[in-house]
Amino acid sequence: MEKITIGSVTAARGEKKQGFLEVANRPDGTMISIPVMVANGEEDGPTLLVNACAHGDEHEGSMSVITLFQKLDPKKMKGTVIGVPVLHVDAAHGMRRGNFYDIYINDMNRIHPGNPDGFITERISNIFFEEIVKKADYVMDLHSGANILYLAEQVYLVDPSSEDLAKAVGGPWNVIWQRKQGEVFGLGTSMAACSRLGIPAIVLEVGGTGGRYHFLEENIKKMVEGVTNVMRYLKIIDGKHEKADNYIDINMVHLRCSHGGLAVPEESFALRKWVEEGEKLIKIIDFFGNTVEEIKAPVKGYTVGRRVFPLIHPGEWVVFLGKPV
Ligand SMILES: [Zn+2]
Repeated sequence: MEKITIGSVTAARGEKKQGFLEVANRPDGTMISIPVMVANGEEDGPTLLVNACAHGDEHEGSMSVITLFQKLDPKKMKGTVIGVPVLHVDAAHGMRRGNFYDIYINDMNRIHPGNPDGFITERISNIFFEEIVKKADYVMDLHSGANILYLAEQVYLVDPSSEDLAKAVGGPWNVIWQRKQGEVFGLGTSMAACSRLGIPAIVLEVGGTGGRYHFLEENIKKMVEGVTNVMRYLKIIDGKHEKADNYIDINMVHLRCSHGGLAVPEESFALRKWVEEGEKLIKIIDFFGNTVEEIKAPVKGYTVGRRVFPLIHPGEWVVFLGKPV
């Protein structure tokens, strides 16, 4: 497009710029600002938004957006890419899912598209939607297993109109969870809010605690390649678009524990593995080593995520199991 302006960023054709979108002042007077990067292509084409860190302890996406933008050359692009490496800045500062200073709302990805008169997390979400999301034709929201879970590559959507986008990510991103619009869990997600605006939107999930020592760089590479592949699909950049070899369409079954304790995986447990109904996956032990609960697969499914942080409270996620559809 001729020119695009978001907050302090203005990028003319063929320019790559960075800056901030201001939200509100903290008590000490400093400004809560959303960092924004824009690569505005030399020629016209679609606008893709890639945002990360709606959850403050999911920096895989942040580093992927940064890495992506280091590579983008707007002189060779047909269309525009908007990058938001850290959407929920104060949550990221605190290395927590939510903003410690927002005592009312912990999870930004349940309250989108926010409220201009709401609590601070709602105000950030609202400005994000009004000033950034509404400029996009496609949205990719990057997440991870955070400080608690480790997740295999998986793509989520809530609206069938986003399925082509989900399957365009390609490579190892072959697990596709198509939620139903209106499901309580999905209502305030970025995908659901985008769906109500008619914007195809997906979430990419990979990595998290535990795997960060060995796999962080690899997972960043996978996310960057997935976004780049979508850019090829949207013809923002040249190059052959690659689909995944096979897709596993799932409904997600979140297995939770009823007993607190320490989560210990069975020796046979692994991610990206088919398990049978009734198969033992993870046990919960007490502080003396006694097994107090067995988490078993309620259906045949494909393992795509597990609790890594051992201490677990009742009601928390233990295993993400993909039930084939
Ligand atoms: Zn997340």
